[in-house]
Amino acid sequence: MTDAPSETFKPKPLTGPQKALRKLGLVRPIDLALHLPLRYEDETRIVKLREVREGDTVQIEATVTACDITPGGRRQLLVTVDDGSDVCTLRFFSFYPSHQKALAVGNRIRARGEIRGGYWGLQMMHPTFKEAGGALAVALTPIYPTVAGLPQAYLRRVVQSGLNRVELAETLLPETLPEIGLQPAWDLRESLWFLHNPTPDVALATLEDHSHPAWQRLKAEELLAQQLSQLTAKRERARLRAPALASVQAKPDRSLPLHAQLLAALPFQLTSAQRRVSTEIAQDLTRPVPMHRLLQGDVGSGKTVVAALAAAICMEAGWQCALMAPTEILAEQHFAKLLSWLAPLGIKTARLIGSQKPKERREMLALIASGEAGLVVGTHAVIQNKVVFKNLALAIIDEQHRFGVAQRLALRSKLTPQTGDAESSPPDTGPAPNGPAEDAPSSPSPLEPHLLMMTATPIPRTLAMSYYADLDVSTIDELPPGRTPIITKVVNDARRDEVIARIHAQVSEGRQIYWVCPLIEESEALDLSNATETHAQLSAALPGVMVGLLHSRMPVAEKKAVMALFSAGQMGVLVSTTVIEVGVDVPNASLMVIEHAERFGLSQLHQLRGRVGRGAAASACVLLYSTGDAPRLGETARARLKAMAETNDGFEIARRDLEIRGPGEFLGARQSGAAMLRFADLATDTALLAWARKTAPLMLDQHPELAQQHVMRWLGDKTDYLKA
Ligand code: ADP
Ligand code: MG
Repeated sequence: MTDAPSETFKPKPLTGPQKALRKLGLVRPIDLALHLPLRYEDETRIVKLREVREGDTVQIEATVTACDITPGGRRQLLVTVDDGSDVCTLRFFSFYPSHQKALAVGNRIRARGEIRGGYWGLQMMHPTFKEAGGALAVALTPIYPTVAGLPQAYLRRVVQSGLNRVELAETLLPETLPEIGLQPAWDLRESLWFLHNPTPDVALATLEDHSHPAWQRLKAEELLAQQLSQLTAKRERARLRAPALASVQAKPDRSLPLHAQLLAALPFQLTSAQRRVSTEIAQDLTRPVPMHRLLQGDVGSGKTVVAALAAAICMEAGWQCALMAPTEILAEQHFAKLLSWLAPLGIKTARLIGSQKPKERREMLALIASGEAGLVVGTHAVIQNKVVFKNLALAIIDEQHRFGVAQRLALRSKLTPQTGDAESSPPDTGPAPNGPAEDAPSSPSPLEPHLLMMTATPIPRTLAMSYYADLDVSTIDELPPGRTPIITKVVNDARRDEVIARIHAQVSEGRQIYWVCPLIEESEALDLSNATETHAQLSAALPGVMVGLLHSRMPVAEKKAVMALFSAGQMGVLVSTTVIEVGVDVPNASLMVIEHAERFGLSQLHQLRGRVGRGAAASACVLLYSTGDAPRLGETARARLKAMAETNDGFEIARRDLEIRGPGEFLGARQSGAAMLRFADLATDTALLAWARKTAPLMLDQHPELAQQHVMRWLGDKTDYLKA
């Protein structure tokens, strides 16, 4: 293969920095131009030491008056400089002979770094330095977000050249904002140029807090792009067709329709919140347009039965329904519960999970393909290629935030009922074979299933309204009656023995206990006591009590066996990693201990806690924390544990989580694509957001081409993420 002629045509391999650029998504000139500085350094002037304040990052010119290596184990290079107004010590923890040479006594140098004060006078740690003299920068020096292997100087050069190309070629950055409504004060070119090369006279604070008009323009652009793409997705969806599933109130033979039969058979009455959201969903299902609805409700608020009622409406109308859950345990639990509700009503439910035996899998696939199974419950296995539905009309995704965007998209597209007929009929002729017999639509688009997403991690109202412009939201804001509130205690791990004593007392009263440990993978790295160790410790401390262990590395069959023992009440204590995080329902469990609670996120803690307090017994949650070597917990960890102790309300928890983490992180790229908002802040840029919400529909109607151009500029090919 050495001299093969084809070799010469191979593109040159990318250099390290080029790879790094690609990793950051900096490909097109416009991407580079939109890669904006995190902050700036002022290299435009020399400051006198007399005028500096602690914390300032400054540039000085001074003469070296001393240059010494401190003796002892930790060698440091200490250099004293004098600029005529004051003296300053430059401190280097690592250094080479070249440092000593450049910083020899008598040399005049230019140094820049952060000023620290203190008993010994002014200091700079590891300043950068060079010979004094030379030209000063004319603009502030931008410091860009970067990754390993991509030095600032290199990045600065390519960004500037990208910016230059954008500047030169009129076509690369046309004005996309049509003249409608209020216009931002600065135009985009001007803003970009300025943000990359701000003049030294600008108030740095307005650049740092992004209140400068140039920043305002960028944030406005970005929010508009986001609103436009959501609105486009919404309008596209409105053009799609879905089976209209009328919810039958009474049948000709006077027998009850399926959902009413299910209601009558339930051992409880729906809460009024459950009734309200069920109606909202039923109304969506009657429309010939795919539902796109998020059902949010705190852990234990009873989302499953709402899903079952929606499924019943769907099956009553003669269509199939699929329910997808993120873990096998959860899928199994849903399967068991739905089977117990629906089998007596004559409904066949199929199960699809990864660990299934091939024979069972084949049988299930056949049931699904023939339409005999009205309901399919499973894990990701549901979206695999081999699964072909006869006529799927409703897809329900439980704990939707645990699924990736790609998986949600796969579910929507794969469930298009025509797939099976692809060879026999060309894709765009004739109405869908399984579609309701309506007048042939002018442009027959494929049928899409209705989509119901469920989550116990609520989105605060303001975010739901503004960010999820194309999502309808139903909220269960009330727990079923008879629940006693969970008491949460934050306890230092030093008092572990007391907690174990309490477990003993509870188990002897017939109660069951969850003990949750952080992930085993993490515990290796972080030296946390892991689930296995805790399991051994509890087994020894609780003779006569069955203590089980559940973690993600166990074979599935073993997991199921353990879960079955715990569900049946035979096992008193279940030690587990977060595999029980979602959905598990064992009402007799009344105490949850979370070890190393300081390592968990707030919504995760809340979800875990929701596993108890499901029965009538008073329940408690103990958050064990350990500070490790530190004297006390870090600030955010403390804020999280405090929030847990203070409230049981999922919405309040979500609000606090938002406060602690900020919206970008709160929503997470997987949940929403919110990470794509690089500059705007949904929590604080409310005026700009309002402007974008108002402008987007006008722009789509009056200037669709500009709108598309605008979205491409900002989101490129990422727009799919907003549709999922
Ligand atoms: P989640 O919203 O967390 O998914 P589940 O659907 O698992 O909650 O419901 C939690 C428990 O509450 C289940 O045991 C369920 O059967 C029960 N439940 C649901 N709705 C009601 C109700 N209206 N009254 C009493 N119990 C209910
Ligand atoms: Mg659930």
